[in-house]
Amino acid sequence: MLAVARCIAVEHDLPMIVLAFLVCALGTVVVTQMFERARSSKAMTCMGWIFLTGVTAGATVWCTHFISMMGYKVNVGARIDPVLTVASLMVVVAGTSIGLWVALAGATTRFAIAGGALVGAAIAAMHFSGMAAYQIDGLVDWRMEYVVASTLLSVALSSAAFVVLCGSRSGRWRLPVGAGLLVACIGSMHFTAMTAMQVEAFAAGETGMESDDKHGLALATALVGMLAMALSITAARIDRRTRADSFRRLRDFAMKDCLTGLLNRSSFNQALEERLAAARKAGTKLALIAIDLDRFKEVNDLHGHKAGDQVLAVLAARLQQQMRSEDLLARLGGDEFVALVELGDRAQLDAPLRRLAAALSAPISLETLTASVGASMGVALYPDDAQTADLLSNNADLAMYRAKREGMQEPCFYDPQLDEFVRRKMELACDLRLAVGRGEFELHYQPQSSVRTGMVVGYEALLRWNHPVLGRVSPTDFIPVAEEHGLMVVIGEWVLRRACADATTWPCSRKVSVNVSPRQLGNPGLSALVEQVLRETGLPPHRLEIELTETAIMQNRERGMDTLRHIQALGVSVALDDFGTGYSSLETMRRFRFDKIKLDRFFISELGDREQALAVVRAVLALGRSMSIPVLAEGIETRNQLDILRREGCEEAQGYLLGRPIPLASLFVHDVARPGLPANAIGSFGPHLVAAT
Ligand code: C2E
Ligand code: MG
Ligand code: MG
Repeated sequence: MLAVARCIAVEHDLPMIVLAFLVCALGTVVVTQMFERARSSKAMTCMGWIFLTGVTAGATVWCTHFISMMGYKVNVGARIDPVLTVASLMVVVAGTSIGLWVALAGATTRFAIAGGALVGAAIAAMHFSGMAAYQIDGLVDWRMEYVVASTLLSVALSSAAFVVLCGSRSGRWRLPVGAGLLVACIGSMHFTAMTAMQVEAFAAGETGMESDDKHGLALATALVGMLAMALSITAARIDRRTRADSFRRLRDFAMKDCLTGLLNRSSFNQALEERLAAARKAGTKLALIAIDLDRFKEVNDLHGHKAGDQVLAVLAARLQQQMRSEDLLARLGGDEFVALVELGDRAQLDAPLRRLAAALSAPISLETLTASVGASMGVALYPDDAQTADLLSNNADLAMYRAKREGMQEPCFYDPQLDEFVRRKMELACDLRLAVGRGEFELHYQPQSSVRTGMVVGYEALLRWNHPVLGRVSPTDFIPVAEEHGLMVVIGEWVLRRACADATTWPCSRKVSVNVSPRQLGNPGLSALVEQVLRETGLPPHRLEIELTETAIMQNRERGMDTLRHIQALGVSVALDDFGTGYSSLETMRRFRFDKIKLDRFFISELGDREQALAVVRAVLALGRSMSIPVLAEGIETRNQLDILRREGCEEAQGYLLGRPIPLASLFVHDVARPGLPANAIGSFGPHLVAAT
């Protein structure tokens, strides 16, 4: 130890030692940073970083060694062999690169120790090959104990450095301690190895290289070493900048809406939670404004999606201009936007709302179009209307739907009395979505009978929903909701399949009537579905009748007529339901030949009380006769109504008097109980009249 200290103090030039130390310290700091980068990279990138780190580490060790050698005071002539010098640099670069690779090859301490040992060995190899290049005009005696000690020191300290650097703990001392151990490794190795060397000059008085030359060479070496480090630092900085850029781009991609640059739904939801928490603490109010464009679909349909995108971008920029920097604005998707404004009291909202409405309704001029889209806006306030983010958004949406429904130019504020009805409808829609899968639907059947003979000629399938909480929900309540939310196609398919399958189990061959909704008729696959269901269930087509309202036909004028013709061509009959309540009845009749007209129960309920009702019934019966289409009267509740219809020559009737809708299981109980009747007499007026009274 003393010998080493003596070697440093007496045999070396102090300024050179200081310069060597600075180069060594700076180099190891760069090396540890780059090694850290290599650790966080994968595959080829990791190999690239290992190589760069190896070059920097090699250059650091090599420069430190040569600057120290320039500070070695020996009074003998000395030359430096260029080939061996370059070889010593190669040895240390290759050795440290391999060592670094080993240290990173596995995540255990063993790999760190092995890699560190290799780096330590490479440093020692560099020293001794470097010394071989330093050819002295004298006798050199190597003290083996110092040679061994220097090598062991190098291996041990380097292993310790890599155990620290590869450690899993991410404390702030890990890199400085690792760098310190590396400096200690390089320094102690060099000076212990220098202590091992005993020089005896061949000729006394030889001074070797001039001191100025040595200083110049040392400075040049330091400069070259630093250049290598600067290159590595630059590479690391470029890499960090590139990574930061791509991270920012990725984050923007995840957080922002690509088209408008506004916040997207998920980042808005997150920000809303944070703002609510802050408002709760500070006791401030927030206003959530739900915005839905009114005529955006028209732009898309008429001018294409590109124009639609441009309109969205223009409107987003306009909205953004109207917002204060502390407010939030987001595009939730499609033509839906949302704004969050902080306010002291509700009156402060008037001006921003007016500005937003003006921005949305002002015409937009693009190259290909000029349009004014307009929007419906709904506002919900925190804490007055809701305390949680979900409820606040929901209430703002409800208010916005009301604005849209009522065609309001002004924003609507959430009003529990007006909006709760819509919320219930939405909840119903949610439950409806699951109802088919949960088996909550059931069909009831209501008889349709011949007025003249009293025989049952068919049964109308009527849908029932057994809601797990609300109990039985009437189809007049849930079918419009299912229609509105596009669920009727799926539900209708279930009804058709169930009704046809049920009808094949009946002990008679009467017709089953299935109601078809406007959306179903609008679905191009309806006729194929009917054909498929008939095939699957084996029900003969003439036993199936579908019922449609005039509204359904008017909503699907051209395609609807074609679909009906296809269905009729299969042999299925088509009835016009609720006749007289829709519009354009005669026009519909002219364009399509129905197999039956079902006169709405509204006219029947007034029969006997009002002369006009009888006049309408007569007119419809006359129309049917003139077109050879049988008429069924709906909603027969009294014997008087039935008598009038019989007198007027109505063909068929349906109503509580003749039989209420009942489940399949109860449908034929009377018939089974009266086995003596002929098949076509099953379910004549008698038993149903008994059942209905
Ligand atoms: P609808 O097709 O006109 O069916 C006749 C409705 O009148 C049934 O109501 C039936 O229970 C009721 N009704 C029958 N006789 C009488 C009577 O004497 N007096 C009174 N007041 N009502 C009578 P329900 O079952 O409530 O169905 C109502 C409507 O819901 C149906 O009117 C139909 O438009 C629709 N609907 C029912 N099931 C389905 C279905 O599976 N698909 C489709 N798309 N609509 C259906
Ligand atoms: Mg019907
Ligand atoms: Mg009807």
